[in-house]
Amino acid sequence: MTNNHPRSMATEAIHAGEIHDSSGAHIAPIYQSSTYTFNGMEGVEAWAEGANDTYIYARGGNPARTALANKLAALEAYGLENGTDGVAAEIFGSGMAAISAALMGLATAGDHIIAQRVLYGSADHLIAEVLPEYGVTNSRIAGLNPETLERELGANPSTTVVYLETPANPTMTLVDIAATAAVAHAHGARVVVDNTFATPVLQRPLEHGADVVVHSTTKYINGHGTVIGGAVVSNDVVLMEERIASLIRFIGGVPSPFDCWLTNLGLKTLPLRMREHSANAMLVARFLEGHPGVRTTMYPGLESHPQHDLATRQMDGYGAMIAFDLGSYGAAAHFLDRIELCTLAVSLGNIDTLVEHPASMTHRVVDPDEREASGITDGLIRISVGLESADDIVADLDRALG
Ligand SMILES: *Cc1c(COP(=O)(O)O)cnc(C)c1O
Repeated sequence: MTNNHPRSMATEAIHAGEIHDSSGAHIAPIYQSSTYTFNGMEGVEAWAEGANDTYIYARGGNPARTALANKLAALEAYGLENGTDGVAAEIFGSGMAAISAALMGLATAGDHIIAQRVLYGSADHLIAEVLPEYGVTNSRIAGLNPETLERELGANPSTTVVYLETPANPTMTLVDIAATAAVAHAHGARVVVDNTFATPVLQRPLEHGADVVVHSTTKYINGHGTVIGGAVVSNDVVLMEERIASLIRFIGGVPSPFDCWLTNLGLKTLPLRMREHSANAMLVARFLEGHPGVRTTMYPGLESHPQHDLATRQMDGYGAMIAFDLGSYGAAAHFLDRIELCTLAVSLGNIDTLVEHPASMTHRVVDPDEREASGITDGLIRISVGLESADDIVADLDRALG
């Protein structure tokens, strides 16, 4: 992985984007204000003439949102030849607000979206059920392999977006971002990557040729389970300035200053957390793989993962999301009723270990046949490995499996 950055990512996560105001406060205060005052009519006139470095109204922008956007943009741009030049982020009130803005920014009535079959449940529903009502059609491909994608793009010349998640939620299958971008760009389509599972610490899609990165910052970016939030990051200046900035303002899915401030605080430790999360997950994955009650364990860091080589090439670590199959709903339910340290809950990326049952929880909205076809079986369990001691996590899983 090229690294043209003068400072390490750990340093960037702490210092990039921080706002130091005239109060001298070491940590930026929360500007809990809906509106901002003009410095007389002269200020109004300067603003009207395009001086846009001022805050007017907090839906349009506020300091906490700017700080978080700039920090996240710096991390997603880390390693790009031009650094953060031209890379911008917008912060939304949820991951879904960010995903819908990215898709609405790139696809309007008459356009087509090609997406991978396995997606985050609500993103799946947005593409399959909501956007068609506005004239945006879609087709779905298992695994998004380049040959099938080439064929699908040829059959749908109005495609403007290829949408993917890697690793995918919840099956932990990967997509080759660079190969996807090469095929999509040859057909004039843009590539949008949901980078929630990997985070910019482990994978930077822009570096591999993706056009837009979306995040649920609710997960690892915040890391502490306190806020729902989302982000769109891109090096396409026109898209960001003319479409995404407009969509956040006019559709209005904005987060509060306090939520931005909390998320920014969490983001500062992301490199440290992802390192420890990944180390813990490797130990948990090896334990699961060796347990006789577990049929399959899907973790990109295991040699047994069918795309382990791609994971090693595309990622700087394997993350902390694991899917494993206990064979039946009954076996999954038995296990989930017996965990004690680990928590039965949706969401992921928190400092504590969360376990869930996709078929009845996160992916309940997905059509059952589609679900089964995409590998979300009734025995499948998804675990977001936390930062507790790996020994304690394994002991809890072992007891619940036993
Ligand atoms: C949680 C999640 C989302 C949606 O984000 P919200 O913040 O819940 O709106 C999208 N993609 C992935 C991969 C997620 O895990």
